[in-house]
Amino acid sequence: MTKAPSFACEDNSIAAQLNWAAKSIQSADSSHTSFLLDAKILLSHCLNCTTTYLHTWPEKALLDSQLIQFRDLVEQRCIGHPVAHLIGYRDFWTLRLQVSNATLIPRPETELLVEAALDLDLPSQTSVLDLGTGTGAIALALASEKSNWQVMGVDKSPDAILLATNNAILNQLNWVQFRQSDWFANIAQQQFDLIVTNPPYVEQHSPYLTQGDVRFEPSSALTSGMDGLDDIRFIIVQARDYLTDSGWLLIEHGFEQGSEIRFLFESNAYVDIQTKADFNGLERVTMAKKAENDL
Ligand code: GLN
Repeated sequence: MTKAPSFACEDNSIAAQLNWAAKSIQSADSSHTSFLLDAKILLSHCLNCTTTYLHTWPEKALLDSQLIQFRDLVEQRCIGHPVAHLIGYRDFWTLRLQVSNATLIPRPETELLVEAALDLDLPSQTSVLDLGTGTGAIALALASEKSNWQVMGVDKSPDAILLATNNAILNQLNWVQFRQSDWFANIAQQQFDLIVTNPPYVEQHSPYLTQGDVRFEPSSALTSGMDGLDDIRFIIVQARDYLTDSGWLLIEHGFEQGSEIRFLFESNAYVDIQTKADFNGLERVTMAKKAENDL
């Protein structure tokens, strides 16, 4: 259940307001497990300061204008709006990315895919394609680490492409290319050493979609058919035409989909199939290589 904060706080100090906000967010919706962090991020946004500052100056009083803005944000958080939408950005990898309701909000789990890609043995001028780039998170994180790589991100949503392009500029990574394309539709004949993707993979009727922050994100970025695997099946088959010999395909997926995805890779004659677990120990990223000299 989500509900607006039901109790007020007379004390205008940072510590008291943080405490009030965390309690309000927690009691509004039990799925808001990061209530204290949410409160800190919202307050540091209103005060234009770091979260460390909040701990250094707990007795400092908020200005009236800050108080009004903070209460409004906490109220919106209590009725469900994601923190990233309220402040307009989410930090991912070492980057600050603008978000909008046109795309998925970048998740910390997706940093695992970035790490896995960086751990591969790849040519120094690797060409990379990020399918369904959204905010540009994966493409930009890779580009920020590898200035020699040629990185392209595609998304079928023109709004996502605008957002990702803007994020490239904001993070001084203007050389990353973003292009509107429904998966491979506008890629022509190009081949890539590395294809990465965080596609939609949630089952169509999953109760998860009716709870918490995902209610405010586009379902096109979340769901893909009954078992959530429609887009992944398509990508695994099609990617073979867009990978160089022994190029890699890395896919983020749901924590119960690892074995099915390994099977799909095997059935499509990929090799070196491996799955990585996220920081919760859940299978999250599966990767495989296009076999050299295959038919
Ligand atoms: N991992 C996301 C979530 O749990 C789902 C993202 C996706 O479908 N790519 O909300």
